[in-house]
Amino acid sequence: MVPSASTPGMQYLAGAIDCHIHAPPHINGRSVTVFEAVRQAAAAGMRAIGLMDNFCNSAGYAALAMAELGHLGVDVFGGLIMQPVAGGVTAQAARTALSYGYGPGTAARFISLPTHHTRFVAEKEGRSPAYLETTFQVPHNGVVPDPVPEIMDMVAEADAVFDCGHVSGREAVALAAEAKRRGVARVRTHCSRYTPDDISGIVELGGYAEFCFFPLTHATTVALTHVDQEKHRSTGGPMTMDDMAERIRAAGTAHAILSSDCGVYILPPPVEGFREFMLLAEAAGFTPAEIRQMNTTNPATLFRVGPGRLAHAA
Ligand SMILES: [Zn+2]
Repeated sequence: MVPSASTPGMQYLAGAIDCHIHAPPHINGRSVTVFEAVRQAAAAGMRAIGLMDNFCNSAGYAALAMAELGHLGVDVFGGLIMQPVAGGVTAQAARTALSYGYGPGTAARFISLPTHHTRFVAEKEGRSPAYLETTFQVPHNGVVPDPVPEIMDMVAEADAVFDCGHVSGREAVALAAEAKRRGVARVRTHCSRYTPDDISGIVELGGYAEFCFFPLTHATTVALTHVDQEKHRSTGGPMTMDDMAERIRAAGTAHAILSSDCGVYILPPPVEGFREFMLLAEAAGFTPAEIRQMNTTNPATLFRVGPGRLAHAA
């Protein structure tokens, strides 16, 4: 169900940003289309949403949504996850994404390493040796492999976000260090399941640590198609809010970002998932000001979201 304005927790969504919504088309069911996600975010008074897509550069959908629904006041942005069907970890795919759109400001705001096509996730999914051979990894010597350094240079030049994808915590620390060396000012990592030590290492290097609602939900208890015909459970199963809160505190609220990661059909629509997540954060002891920092200020800084409706929400 889509919550109404009086539903508890909706005050946290006014002016907020959910930078992780899987509303674009998919090979399994979605709870909303891109247009529905934008309309529902607008109805909740949200300032921006970020579209995530494992199949293509979501900046195209974002640009289309802004052309049609920009008057609703929600800044819709997208980017590229370099999964194989989206072009893979190639300089050409990244270069194209950084200029693809309907004019200035509509190109990819983030370039992400793969989500499922990493050695870390593929091993957990029990993929074949031949599949594993083709996946992305940072070797144990910590040297970031080509063409990622070249891609980081492009991201730095465009002042976009470098997203470390679903690598291990050790790899994310190595990637954040290399990104910093190459002048990338904006680094996003997916920290829900990283150790507090790895999370501290990432934020000390200037990276943002994102935490999602998805790992707390029933969606982790069933196998789903994520990127191809194989069904897999979310690695690690459901986690508790206590476990996640410990990790958020390791990042510090100045460097943590909260997002829904909703869009799959068995979870509530993104606005509702985001609302529930904010109430869990509140129950875990985070103050309204800390929640505002993590669901608005930090993602606005990371993704260069304009002032939008924040003035109204403040
Ligand atoms: Zn996701």
